[in-house]
Amino acid sequence: MDENPTASSPGPTFETDEPVGYKLDGAVAWISLQRPRYHNAQNGQMLYALDAAFKRAANDDAVKAIVLRAEGKHFSVGHDIGSPGRDLHVPREHPSLWYDHSNKPEAEFLYAREQDAYLGLCRRWRELPKPTVAMVHGACIAGGLMLAWVCDLIVASDDAYFQDPVVLMGIPGVEYFAHAFEMHPRLAKEFLMLGERMSATRAYEVGMVNRVVPRDRLEDEVRAISEKLAERGRLALALTKQAINHVEDLRGKRTAMDAVFHMHHFAHAQNSLVSGHAIGNMDVRAMARANSVKSDT
Ligand code: ZN
Repeated sequence: MDENPTASSPGPTFETDEPVGYKLDGAVAWISLQRPRYHNAQNGQMLYALDAAFKRAANDDAVKAIVLRAEGKHFSVGHDIGSPGRDLHVPREHPSLWYDHSNKPEAEFLYAREQDAYLGLCRRWRELPKPTVAMVHGACIAGGLMLAWVCDLIVASDDAYFQDPVVLMGIPGVEYFAHAFEMHPRLAKEFLMLGERMSATRAYEVGMVNRVVPRDRLEDEVRAISEKLAERGRLALALTKQAINHVEDLRGKRTAMDAVFHMHHFAHAQNSLVSGHAIGNMDVRAMARANSVKSDT
């Protein structure tokens, strides 16, 4: 979720030069979200660093499986709507070839940015032809869901929870609209309309996550799974991944996502017209209050 730029917006102040970590352990690349001070709120700096990390893992023949994990108390509380490193005005050369958004007016600004930074990057990562495992602990909220959902497997600790509360912003779900594919449409309506937390146990029951383990066993469980994946044939896994993704797309995932992306942007535009603020005057404190997640921003 993003707002429109304002002439008085100060430039971003990044708290780190390495918002994403990368470590190769055997045949497994461990990629870490590293903005723990802001509960891994996703700014452009982090998202494009994450894209570079995934690309590095994709291009390295030594890498057979990829883990996406996070430093700090939470996996990710979503898109950055208030940290000092919030950088949506920074010009970008977009991997998708969408033109730079930063100097475009009104609705085009967010449309071009979110086509690339949110929808485009998530689709790239979903289609990365190596197995990916999301290791989720703590909060996985809104944009956080997007990072978990693009992975092939999701392993959660028993303290993890999932939530998309952006109806509070007048918006029908985050940009990567997989909700009705990650859970039954009836549950997806409840998940979005009420915006309540879904526990890891419930997420397991509805088929959103593969395994739930105690927090102190999370890393070991993910290591065991990823090392097992790494023993499988590279092409066999790539083809299997493509096969399942293709089935999802035949069921309408890609076209539904395209359609809802435009509803999402109609909502951003409506918010801007009504309130002058693309996320409906919901700032980070208001959203944190609504989510009961302590915010450092
Ligand atoms: Zn948005």
